[in-house]
Amino acid sequence: QTVTAASADFVAKQRKYLAPGVATYYDTPIVMSHGAGCYLYASDGTKYLDFFGGILTVSVGHAHPRVNRAVIDQIQKLTHVSTLYVTTPMVELAQRLAEITPGDLAVSFFTSSGTEANETAIAMARMATGAYEVVALRHSYSGRSALAATLTGQAGWRLGMHGTPGVVHAMNAYCYRCPFGKTPDRCGLECAKDMEETLRTSTSGRVAAVIAEPIQGVGGFITPPDAYFQEIAETVRKYGGLFIADEVQTGFGRTGRAFGIEHSGVQPDLMTFAKGLANGHPIGATIATPAVAAAYTKPTISTFGGNPVSMRAALTTLDVIAEENLTENARVQGQRLREGLEELQRRYPMIGDVRGKGLMQGMEFVRADKEPAPDLVAKFAEYTRQNGLLIGKGGLYGNTVRIAPAMNVSAAQVQEALEQMAEALARMTAEEPELARLSAD
Ligand code: PMP
Repeated sequence: QTVTAASADFVAKQRKYLAPGVATYYDTPIVMSHGAGCYLYASDGTKYLDFFGGILTVSVGHAHPRVNRAVIDQIQKLTHVSTLYVTTPMVELAQRLAEITPGDLAVSFFTSSGTEANETAIAMARMATGAYEVVALRHSYSGRSALAATLTGQAGWRLGMHGTPGVVHAMNAYCYRCPFGKTPDRCGLECAKDMEETLRTSTSGRVAAVIAEPIQGVGGFITPPDAYFQEIAETVRKYGGLFIADEVQTGFGRTGRAFGIEHSGVQPDLMTFAKGLANGHPIGATIATPAVAAAYTKPTISTFGGNPVSMRAALTTLDVIAEENLTENARVQGQRLREGLEELQRRYPMIGDVRGKGLMQGMEFVRADKEPAPDLVAKFAEYTRQNGLLIGKGGLYGNTVRIAPAMNVSAAQVQEALEQMAEALARMTAEEPELARLSAD
């Protein structure tokens, strides 16, 4: 596929007028024009099967007619009042979140992004506990404010803003590259034990919270065993801290259950949401137990937080997920996708690891001795794009492929994506025959 003169022009304009740090995929950026369901259309007419969904944001598909109708209807009535007044959609969404989240999570605060949702959660945890320090996990991603960038466990995403005081990082459970050299079935969860070690060595001994993604998104879909969360939650609570589940990527059915943390049975004290909640409309939400929320009494405002347009988009997205049984579809199609990726792994030893839950599946690309191979991921992304498929990249080493289509993806679309991926892998192997001879370690 070649870039047309018009889009080359457009790309030049983009490079001139948009900040250079903006992360774009592909050497010749794709100029997107419109979308429908699992498909995206570029301005040069190329049709793409979208298996990244705007980084897990388009949860029920691009331009979903029901979500669009709700948004248009709301825009015609009222777009904004700030939090000086309340609107029905805002209260309705808060009630809906209380009904569908586990345990006694019940009180919400709305913002416009995942970054703000996490900032709010940390503020609430600090006010509720009277403690200041926070434990985050290595390889995590929390957002782009100074605090959220400091919580983020990857230097590359910190925007040079690392340094907000009171944040320490504990080991995550990265089983494919276990820092203790163990294998998952007989490891004694050394990584979870590091939580206590971190609390004892690197904090004052009293902390406000631990913040954890049930599956680390930007970190490369690193998927800890359920027992890891049980153990770290118990440990942090022993030191007075709350458990914050960052469900920005894993929430609302994506993993085959309503929330990612539910697989582990841990009851969080706070949960944060953004991305897929409103199917692409700007939103952030923090939900807390009544006891935690009761401490959040300092005057605060978020100008666009809780705006009725985003609230209606979210309410309708949640209706679609419930009525069309999309959590179950994420489980079933996720299983199909997973089996297909494991089949590819058996054929192509450059796929070192396949991991994830539901429609959140990742593959780590390696050379001999598990050496991270970001160049192979870049090539794979380019070749799948040439085949008409969009996938994501990620991971601390940039060597993870992230796959997360809209939750109403069909079996045929999963099959089509797997075939496009197989074709890209075959082409890469033809170009570099040694890739077929790696040890499948
Ligand atoms: N938490 C997680 C787990 C995320 O993946 C992201 C975004 N990638 C954020 C927080 C920050 O969200 P936003 O970009 O909306 O600020």
